[in-house]
Amino acid sequence: MSDRLNKPCYVFEKNDESRFLKEIRLEREVFKSVTEEQFILHYQPIVNQNQNRIVGFEALLRWDHPEFGMIPPNEFIPLLESTGLIVQVGYQTIKKACQQIKTWEQNGFNDIKMHVNLSVRQLFSEELVLQLENILAKEKINPKRLTIEITESMIMEDSDHFINMLDEIRKLGIEVSIDDFGTGYSALSYLTRLNVDSIKIDQSFVQQVGCGDKGDAVIKSIISLARHLDLNVIAEGVEEERHISFLLENECSEMQGFYFSKPLTEYEANQYLFTYHQKVSG
Ligand code: C2E
Ligand code: CA
Ligand code: CA
Ligand code: CA
Repeated sequence: MSDRLNKPCYVFEKNDESRFLKEIRLEREVFKSVTEEQFILHYQPIVNQNQNRIVGFEALLRWDHPEFGMIPPNEFIPLLESTGLIVQVGYQTIKKACQQIKTWEQNGFNDIKMHVNLSVRQLFSEELVLQLENILAKEKINPKRLTIEITESMIMEDSDHFINMLDEIRKLGIEVSIDDFGTGYSALSYLTRLNVDSIKIDQSFVQQVGCGDKGDAVIKSIISLARHLDLNVIAEGVEEERHISFLLENECSEMQGFYFSKPLTEYEANQYLFTYHQKVSG
């Protein structure tokens, strides 16, 4: 008997079935979840390892589903994008993030930056700049506290539109960072036309540190490119001691990753801020 008959190429496993059913449920419930505000933010610290301080947090969206529990963004962002709900959820996200900045300020942490991810749909929305303006005015926070993260691949879609959009955002005093830097398979020429404040080195590069000369050379070049363009650099996905020493040797001192902390709930992030602060000053 041939192998082909013995082993079908694809078995419809029970796991696949439940994953499929979950996807259908999520698709059906996504509208309700927005009205019921089931979306919450987790916060992952960004540290300056040279100055031994927390420089900011990245706000990461979670769907707190009544039955499935905490759902990660890769399972629902595409759904929010395809339904257009991302514009509304994105607005709530920026608002919550700014309210958190204010709460931290009120607790004496007034130099903490908040990074918020934007999707391509939001950047194409005509209301975005007005929304940002309204939130800043309402929450009365220093716009410098807020950093918008956009990925390289978004810029490629329509670079003229994005160059204008990012200029408008920066006119408000908000900073802009290029996320997942180096993964967009892009020509770097956009960097000469685009005004941004920082880049985030994608975790795939950080994780290759020490695994070969080529990987090391690439990450060194990214850091040096950023330096020459006068951009701040943040390394993502820092998990091990050897990542830290390599980054410090190459003068990249801002880092984010599981080595320091996973994304935290609001409560945990507050605890983290207080203990980190005590550890350093006490
Ligand atoms: P991202 O912006 O690249 O976010 C970093 C992701 O890496 C986060 O996953 C984080 O949990 C994970 N991470 C952090 N440190 C480490 C590490 O040391 N090792 C490893 N292996 N992973 C690490 P998360 O929270 O699942 O978010 C995934 C993506 O979803 C984000 O990627 C971002 O593109 C998107 N996303 C999250 N929140 C939002 C949002 O509010 N709006 C939009 N448009 N996208 C969002
Ligand atoms: Ca990000
Ligand atoms: Ca990233
Ligand atoms: Ca990413």
